[in-house]
Amino acid sequence: MTTATARDRRGWDALMRAAAMVGPRRGRLALSILLGAGAIIAACALLAVAGVLISKAALKPGILTLTVFTVAVRGLAIARALLRYTERLASHDLAFRVLAELRVKFFARLVPLVPEGIRRMRSGDVLDRFTGEVDTLQDLYLRALGPPLVAIVVILAVGMAMAFVLPAGAVILVVALVVAGTAIPALALVLTRRSGRRQGPARAALSAELVDVIQGAPELAVYGRQADWAARVRRADALLMESQRRDALAAAVSAVLSVLVAGAALVGVAAAGVSAVSAGQMDGILLAAAVFLTMGAFEAVSGLPDAAQRIVACATAAERLEEVTDEPVPVVDPGAPRRLAGGPLVARDVGFRYPGTDEVALDGVGLTLEPGSRVALVGPSGAGKTTLARLLVRFADPEAGVIRLGDVDLPEAAQDDVRHRIRLVGQEAYLFTATIAANVRMGRPDCGDADIVEALARAGLGPWVAGLPDGIETQVGEDGAAVSGGQRGRIALARGLVSDSDHLILDEPTAQLDPVGARELLAELGADRSDRRGVLVITHTVEGLEEFDEILVMDDGRVVERGRWPELVAAGGPFATIAAAG
Ligand code: ADP
Repeated sequence: MTTATARDRRGWDALMRAAAMVGPRRGRLALSILLGAGAIIAACALLAVAGVLISKAALKPGILTLTVFTVAVRGLAIARALLRYTERLASHDLAFRVLAELRVKFFARLVPLVPEGIRRMRSGDVLDRFTGEVDTLQDLYLRALGPPLVAIVVILAVGMAMAFVLPAGAVILVVALVVAGTAIPALALVLTRRSGRRQGPARAALSAELVDVIQGAPELAVYGRQADWAARVRRADALLMESQRRDALAAAVSAVLSVLVAGAALVGVAAAGVSAVSAGQMDGILLAAAVFLTMGAFEAVSGLPDAAQRIVACATAAERLEEVTDEPVPVVDPGAPRRLAGGPLVARDVGFRYPGTDEVALDGVGLTLEPGSRVALVGPSGAGKTTLARLLVRFADPEAGVIRLGDVDLPEAAQDDVRHRIRLVGQEAYLFTATIAANVRMGRPDCGDADIVEALARAGLGPWVAGLPDGIETQVGEDGAAVSGGQRGRIALARGLVSDSDHLILDEPTAQLDPVGARELLAELGADRSDRRGVLVITHTVEGLEEFDEILVMDDGRVVERGRWPELVAAGGPFATIAAAG
């Protein structure tokens, strides 16, 4: 119970913060509320005047007596349409402005979190928060906070109008409107309390399952596990359907109760009107007006049960967005960043543990990458090679020790500057659904076609690209689906080569290559000194490292051996063992 209350509180607090975004747009909110209330008041007035017109017409007066009422009816009909139209414009304008701001805010917070992963959230879940939850919050003004404010204005206006012609009717009408506007939404809230909170997570779980199934479809087909995963998707879907069904039930119950309350109010006002007319306290002509006004007034409260449900959905959505935006950002830019000016990349005594783990991923690691030098990092899986590469581009900061480029510690510089100067070609570098040229050009947006062709040739793709009918304009498919694994890795390598960084870090560039290709690529990287950058190559295959200036052997988070190829082979230590294993 306490956890549910605490969760409610967190949701409401998050909702208040989301609602505060309208602060600078108070004027627009007031305008849309006034226009919305105006539209309903015009509709009520239209019905009331129509009632008077019909009653008067029944008494067959001169046609001129009726003209003023027919003109009023026409005028009010036009006014109602215009007010409704402009209200829609104003309220949607407000909602979309807030929506755009929310999306940008969420995206801007997401970017720095992505390299280290967001609390290991599934990608479908993050996607759903970015789309579904933000869309849900779009309703915050339009359908959750706006309608109650409009209802208050309308209840005051029609209550006063009714009090003018039939005071007893005014009491009945206002009481009925307040009941329909508070008790029925409260009941809807009780009915959907749990389901409203569950809907966002249920939708996100379904998205996460779907994204998994789509991404893993080939594996599921190969292992014949489609039926199991289809069942998982169905289960996630059933949970979502269940909460949506409860919503529909609450909507139906609210609709029935609203009609009953409105009907009772109508009977009450009619009875009060009849007795007032027979007591001579009200002109009989106005009786129909009072009854019609009552009918019209309920439009103001008809959307409130839905608004109550949406407020709960919005609170959950705001809370789920904050779960992402409140994540501590792994690295932050300094207030006054120092500019990097090249020089050697040096890591000294670096220690690191992944957040939330006790296991030491790096322990006292040192490395120097001089401009123009070729350094290799070898060692078994789990040795800490990728972790070190990620620290070198400041995806995270070391727990101990320092990493500097030239005379600047990386945390003193802006992250963009660091990643521009030190390029990482990751193990799973992503290829975008575009041409080979566009994917390579990401490394340096202003590079020309000739640079791209040269970089592809250096990455070992020259003859292949030359033989393609569309050459560098060939589409690679989603994440390189239309090219082989080896070609995919080499296109990513070309992206790194074309960049104008000071240093290049290549994480397992030979992962998808055959032994001959791997050897050739490493030998080429070691021998080609035309590139004045420092190149750090992480590799599990060691054939081809003969020309490298230094080879660091890592194991269990430490550098256990370092030197050039001949020395290491002669030493007969860990490197010699790896080299002998081939
Ligand atoms: P290598 O690149 O040499 O194969 P890694 O640097 O990937 O090794 O991993 C070093 C250690 O850090 C391993 O013990 C691994 O389990 C751990 N590790 C890697 N990534 C994470 C992560 N995101 N969260 C927690 N631990 C991790």
